[in-house]
Amino acid sequence: MKFSGFRVFAEALKGHTGWRPLWRNPDPKPSYDYVIVGGGGHGLATAYYLATKFGLSRVAVLEKGWLGSGNVGRNTTIIRSNYLLAGNEPFYEFSMKLWEGLEQEFNFNAMVSQRGIINLFHTDAQRDVFRRRGNAMMLAGAGARLLGRADLRAMVPFLNYDNARFPIKGGLMQQRAGTARHDGVAWGYARGADNHGVDLIQNCEVTGFRVDRGKVRGVETSRGYIAADKVGVAVAGSSGRVMAMAGMRLPIESHVLQAFVTEGLKPTIPGVITFGAGHFYISQSDKGGLVFGGDIDGYNSYAQRGNLPVVEDVAEAGMALMPMLGRARLLRMWGGVVDMSMDGSPIIDRTHIEDLYFNGGWCYGGFKATPASGYAFAHLLATGAPHETARAYRFDRFARGHVIDERGAGAQPNLH
Ligand SMILES: Cc1cc2nc3c(=O)[nH]c(=O)nc-3n(C[C@H](O)[C@H](O)[C@H](O)COP(=O)(O)OP(=O)(O)OC[C@H]3O[C@@H](n4cnc5c(N)ncnc54)[C@H](O)[C@@H]3O)c2cc1C
Repeated sequence: MKFSGFRVFAEALKGHTGWRPLWRNPDPKPSYDYVIVGGGGHGLATAYYLATKFGLSRVAVLEKGWLGSGNVGRNTTIIRSNYLLAGNEPFYEFSMKLWEGLEQEFNFNAMVSQRGIINLFHTDAQRDVFRRRGNAMMLAGAGARLLGRADLRAMVPFLNYDNARFPIKGGLMQQRAGTARHDGVAWGYARGADNHGVDLIQNCEVTGFRVDRGKVRGVETSRGYIAADKVGVAVAGSSGRVMAMAGMRLPIESHVLQAFVTEGLKPTIPGVITFGAGHFYISQSDKGGLVFGGDIDGYNSYAQRGNLPVVEDVAEAGMALMPMLGRARLLRMWGGVVDMSMDGSPIIDRTHIEDLYFNGGWCYGGFKATPASGYAFAHLLATGAPHETARAYRFDRFARGHVIDERGAGAQPNLH
């Protein structure tokens, strides 16, 4: 079934009776060439690119809940490629380019909206750091614009420019950044993968790996044993628990990150605004809700809900930046479990077990990486070699000392 404006029109004439489910609901087969563990954005994108770019169809995605029940459906939808370091910037820019053609490619409305992101700065020293990052972004073709206070005020007049602690002096803007509808992305990839013969198997929890003479042979699941030539794990916040079943202890900690949405309001915020000094960021959804968040809850947890001190902290930061926020009513809030790596950057790599591969460590920023992560993981699984933009995302960087610490926070997962 192909989606188009004409199709919507035609369906309207016949009472919308022709729409079909976006994907099949197959039972697991006894064996596959490729099994992907985790039906989040990264797992679904991996299966999609395995099928579409590498022509592989004996592929299954195993998801313990329903597709999109994890962080892909819980994030605050920001996509961007405003990185500094050589290990990161080409990868995230590759992702941004994939975002730009994604909806046409998989024929699904994921509401990709390049409305821009502005990172605020508050001191001259911080401006210089942002200028350097902007230059790196321009060299990588990502585009950047340094905004002075007057430019910024003309764009977003409602900020508190004269906050005593963090007076706003300007911002670094990436015009091509923006937002995408998070669960729409999961559904688009799921539908595309299913159309190319991938089996998407929900309510199927992986409970163990079968390993023989150092090679993975398949996975134990809540729906029985499934044999596989190659297994790729992309389970985000559950990475530590799942890889422990393969005898691995990862350089990753799981933390809760919360998100907040207000009642629908008239258009107020043109793009995404981040207030790093106060640990706060905000955008406005197409339905009008102000979507915002802040820092992670600072303790390790696998619970998909957060605690009140962070709610208070985020509300305080929001009020410091945008006093008018105090008039809006909070409609919903929730938490997701994020896989915080030791240097704040991800891992897409093989493991010590032959044909068992791992994708994780996305911290609070893996949604924007979904297309490139899926592509690079599919490349690694299909060819055995890392994708050119993901070469730095190796486990052994921690042993070699070549960490990719974008924030310069050191080996402190809760600070990245
Ligand atoms: C509140 C919040 C806000 C965020 N905001 C942003 C943002 O604005 N921009 C951005 O880029 N990133 C953001 N992120 C981060 C981003 O959402 C994640 O990095 C990304 O979604 C992780 O990849 P995923 O989509 O594959 O994860 P998930 O959707 O979590 O997928 C993992 C899947 O694995 C499944 N699974 C786990 N264990 C098993 C098992 N044993 N067997 C089978 N399946 C299993 C889970 O059920 C889950 O569906 C945010 C995260 C949160 C929580």
